[in-house]
Amino acid sequence: MTERSLETELTTPNGYKVTVNTGLFINNEFVPGADTISTINPSTGKVITSVQAAEAEQVDLAVEAAYKAFYGGWKTTSARERARLLLKLADLVERDSEDLAHLETLDNGKPLSTSREIDVPSLASHLRYFAGFCDKIHGKTIETEGKLSYTVYEPLGVCAAIIPWNAPLVMISKKIAPALCAGNTIVFKTSELTPLSSLKFASLVKETGFPPGVVNFITGYGNIVGEGLSRHMKVSKVTFTGSAPTGRAIMKGASESNLKRVSLELGGKSPNIIFDDVEDLDHAVVSAYQAIYYNSGQVCCAGSRVYVQEGIYDRFVEKFKAMTEATKIGNPFIQETFQGPQISEAQFNRVMSYIDIGKKEGATCFVGGNRHGDNGYFIEPTIFTDVKSDMRIMKEEIFGPVVTISKFKDEEEVVAKANDSIYGLGAAVFTSNIKRAIRVSNALEAGTVCVNEYNMFSDDCPFGGYKQSGIGRENSEYALLEYLQIKTIKINIRSPNE
Ligand code: NAD
Ligand code: MN
Repeated sequence: MTERSLETELTTPNGYKVTVNTGLFINNEFVPGADTISTINPSTGKVITSVQAAEAEQVDLAVEAAYKAFYGGWKTTSARERARLLLKLADLVERDSEDLAHLETLDNGKPLSTSREIDVPSLASHLRYFAGFCDKIHGKTIETEGKLSYTVYEPLGVCAAIIPWNAPLVMISKKIAPALCAGNTIVFKTSELTPLSSLKFASLVKETGFPPGVVNFITGYGNIVGEGLSRHMKVSKVTFTGSAPTGRAIMKGASESNLKRVSLELGGKSPNIIFDDVEDLDHAVVSAYQAIYYNSGQVCCAGSRVYVQEGIYDRFVEKFKAMTEATKIGNPFIQETFQGPQISEAQFNRVMSYIDIGKKEGATCFVGGNRHGDNGYFIEPTIFTDVKSDMRIMKEEIFGPVVTISKFKDEEEVVAKANDSIYGLGAAVFTSNIKRAIRVSNALEAGTVCVNEYNMFSDDCPFGGYKQSGIGRENSEYALLEYLQIKTIKINIRSPNE
């Protein structure tokens, strides 16, 4: 098979044409795998195209390519050159933003407006943010007791990135930008459910002029490619975003092979707390709505547990219900659509089974709870009330458009309830009382606490989990540290006769 024969032209439902290479991207070439995988359009349930599936042999090829690229020169490439390449890549992402956005929406089902306005711009922005960091990675000088010591940061080597399907381009950015900034090489394993935007991005990597092997993308299954990378002796680190069980499997693979570093960005069950003294109730309603239903609820930090103080509870629920019922669900290529499908039949079934569990546990399914339409994997945005702390829908991550709304009396009670979770990724507080805002933010066990807004995330602030939501941080200089190791160099400056 030639590189050319792996190319396919796709036409999206709105008539847009885009070409993508479906091969494995190793050493700057698209090559065949051992098998193929079909990728499905979740809006219709129909096959879009098929991509190559790597086996152990191709995993090895990709890691070897990255290993050779690291020791063959990338490790010592100048900071300015790394920055130049990251900036050029960001420019190409912007040039081809329509291709990337259309592929993301076709494969994942998220609204085209979201792909255009959030996913693609945040990829370019993240590349630029870390381009700026390349020549600002410095150690310290430590001079004590007759010794002059200094520290230098060095890259780790080959990093493997295993990414999920809910926002592939965003996940690429979170991993590739700090990894390359720090001077590592990288092998990506894309999700088998959403390989297309990653493959388009891979062709931009090649066009940018990165040396062969610095960036590789392999499509394939978790139990073969994911396991293979986690257990590979030449991989120095795995950075993963996805589910907790897979996170555990990766840690196991790391511990049973070369004790590679592992950073994990797992799920959550994030609380969103609205106090009676909220400045603008309508804004809190809109914010809470976005917090859970954005991306069909398929967001690791989704605000899936809403707590509303008793004085405004009825008004909040009434407004939230009206907004939920007015949700525009359907074809993600139509401008008005807010909510697309769930990613797959398996995820659809999983979310529907949680709705069933909630009903059986005795919670009230107040709004929604049904399939939407006859084709694709659409689910009505769903509200549960009368939910008890020990119910599964209150404890487990559903990863769909399903929210619980609970009433609370006072601050102490709601903080205890909010923290009663194995997770700790996001949280939010709505109040006009600045002292309360700070008190509650300090008390919440979460990696990010937002006040008077949900979903405030940016390149320059660390993001990651407390408790079982993960290990390590993405975004900001804290992310950079996840891709560096520190060396101490000590010089004896005492003369021999001292
Ligand atoms: P998953 O964790 O199985 O998949 C994520 C990635 O891990 C994919 O690329 C997959 O191929 C890979 N993988 C699977 N098994 C592996 C293994 N043994 N070793 C290494 N890699 C492996 O997630 P899923 O099954 O697609 O989704 C299930 C649940 O995960 C969701 O319902 C949700 O709760 C959670 N999830 C969270 C996020 C997030 O952003 N934190 C993203 C996706 C899914
Ligand atoms: Mn797909």
